[in-house]
Amino acid sequence: MQRSISPTTSLSSLACAAVLLTCCIAPAQPCTPVWSAFPSPPDGLNGIPEALLIHEDDGGGPAPQADASVSAEPGAVLSVLTADCGPVALVAPGVVAAVHAGWRGVAAGVLEAAVAEVRRRTSGPVRAVLGPCIHAECYEFSAADLDPIAERLGPGVAGTTAGGQLALDLPRAVHLALAGAGVTDVTDVDVCTACSGDHFSHRRDGCTGLQTMLVAAR
Ligand SMILES: [Zn+2]
Repeated sequence: MQRSISPTTSLSSLACAAVLLTCCIAPAQPCTPVWSAFPSPPDGLNGIPEALLIHEDDGGGPAPQADASVSAEPGAVLSVLTADCGPVALVAPGVVAAVHAGWRGVAAGVLEAAVAEVRRRTSGPVRAVLGPCIHAECYEFSAADLDPIAERLGPGVAGTTAGGQLALDLPRAVHLALAGAGVTDVTDVDVCTACSGDHFSHRRDGCTGLQTMLVAAR
């Protein structure tokens, strides 16, 4: 069951442009995988936190589960499913990528790895878009989980929840990781999924639906 589709960002000025949509998909029943509403699973990403897999989408067959997908195929449409994790689109001349930037993936370097894959395919500038994800005020985090991310990206990833508890500032971590990879042209839609009534949030709701970010090369 599709709840809503709304364009969030359009980078139409780029030679290889991305059109990003936030497509909120509610599960048919509580705790039913959202793709049960489709004839087959969507050709997108459902991140595997412990792995760092980048799939090259060459237009042949469905994508496997992976942390990121990159394509230099004209007309390619990539997607990433999230419900608090950061959906990140990378756009460069002739190349697009979609990245599932959850905290484990960010800690493992998924963004840097995806930028490197884009740069292997083009020498042009790389831009990024960060879609709706959970923000620090809603993302209490343990020091044990936060420390490795801070060691990698710096103390700026630490934040504070609305209740004063230690938090991961996931958008900040995404920005720092991208900057470390040389990507500073970042559009951030600046929406917290847990605060937004228009988005699903695993941290807020437990079992929930997923948003899809679509990245279309054109
Ligand atoms: Zn929030």
